[in-house]
Amino acid sequence: MAVRAVKTEAVVLRSIRYGEADRILHLYTPARGRVSAIAKGVRRTRSRFGGRLEPFFRLRIELHEGRGELLTVTGAQTIDAHPRLRGDAHALDAAARACDAVGRLFETSEPHPGVFNLLCRKLALLDQQVAASQHAEVDGALSARADALAFRLKLLLAAGLAPHLGACACCGEREQLAYFSGAAGGVVCGACEGEAFALDPDAHGFMAQALARPLADAPDASDRALGQVERAISETLAHHAQVRLMPAAGPARRGVSGRPAGAGARTPPAGHESPPGTPAAGIVGRRG
Ligand SMILES: [Zn+2]
Repeated sequence: MAVRAVKTEAVVLRSIRYGEADRILHLYTPARGRVSAIAKGVRRTRSRFGGRLEPFFRLRIELHEGRGELLTVTGAQTIDAHPRLRGDAHALDAAARACDAVGRLFETSEPHPGVFNLLCRKLALLDQQVAASQHAEVDGALSARADALAFRLKLLLAAGLAPHLGACACCGEREQLAYFSGAAGGVVCGACEGEAFALDPDAHGFMAQALARPLADAPDASDRALGQVERAISETLAHHAQVRLMPAAGPARRGVSGRPAGAGARTPPAGHESPPGTPAAGIVGRRG
């Protein structure tokens, strides 16, 4: 059987220890969607891959494709290592959540180059924002959550699941759209509210603006509105994709409790080292 060489750009979504010295990588690529590949000997000190096959690296990668689904990494060059992101627990956490969402929503080999570009943009933004965020601890958590939800809304759009926002998703009414229905896939009017939940105008506006604006220019909203947006996204995904994502953002940087920002999140989150089959176990487990 012929072994085919594949050259592609890729983002490392997750890296899982395997055997004595190997790693299994989940990669997201522009033309082949999500790909799993084994990197042999990568955990040896003198591996030719160096530290390049870590989560959130953007790479130009060479793979060998045999008969199985698992490809083998034969070469890798760094396009962007996102070095600042790597030094910040909150940015790492946000990157892990972004990669997890992409991996779950787009888990097949179906190509979505737009999703690849969106993920690259998100990681680059997180990297840029690390320096700025140290001056804005108070607003940091709220805007990080807004950014994360704007990213998710764009993923929904790429998946063909963008919520209907201009008119009632059930009857087409254009006034009094004060509810959201995941089953209907959008805002609904009072007459159609059924199993819908109440949606503030702020939350409605956030979704419309987040979909219309570039990722770097996500709108602001209150904590309450963002909570409704997150619920709208979750219920849409549950109904139409049977996908459940981890919360969009990690625990807030709250000065009130006296815990420093990043406490409890020191361990690099998802993406790193979680055993197979339990993606992001660390994060999900911490919620209760
Ligand atoms: Zn209606």
